[in-house]
Amino acid sequence: METRRLYYEDPYLREFEAVVVAVEGDGVILNQTAFYPEGGGQAGDTGTLNDVKVINTIQRGGRIIHLVERPTAFKVGDEVRGVLNWSRRYRIMRLHSASHIMEYFLYQRLGPLERLGSHVDERKDRADYAYDGRLPPEALRWVEEQTNRFIAEGHPIVITLDPDRPGWRIWRCGPIEMYCAGTHVRNTREIGEVVLRRRNPGRGVERIETMLKP
Ligand SMILES: [Zn+2]
Repeated sequence: METRRLYYEDPYLREFEAVVVAVEGDGVILNQTAFYPEGGGQAGDTGTLNDVKVINTIQRGGRIIHLVERPTAFKVGDEVRGVLNWSRRYRIMRLHSASHIMEYFLYQRLGPLERLGSHVDERKDRADYAYDGRLPPEALRWVEEQTNRFIAEGHPIVITLDPDRPGWRIWRCGPIEMYCAGTHVRNTREIGEVVLRRRNPGRGVERIETMLKP
């Protein structure tokens, strides 16, 4: 049975009630959850189930697995209260939304690049692009300025299901549109200000790290 994904119904849900449907190794599977499972470049959620720590959340097929510190505390049929580490997840939502906006302005400046990989956790978003040489510092500065200007304008972010591709979610904000399975803020203003940093993880690859300004 697929786990009901409460984080899609309400990405701001921090607490929920659920029933244990299976316990496998360190993994607890519930009938429904607000914990986002690692995937689509976004880190898995942490928090607690009945005060037992959830160290990470992953998915196998359509089932979401909560990796917990003390799996013996759970058995099938138990009612549990799930509580997300919300400050961490909210930072991830802000950074994930910011990275889509950053990428839009990056492509505006340099033309579309091939994205080789991306990952977002509570500290930063990192996105790797195929690029020969070094990203010009003035281009990065421009992208940072445009991203922050756009964020401050307070654009709504709307996510809808693609009627032509079952299960695919379309992320829209102003002129920006892409497929994304992640969790996002409702309005760019929630992101606050971001800082961009360039890295070079290897030949022919340039990395842009997006961080929230402290
Ligand atoms: Zn995304």
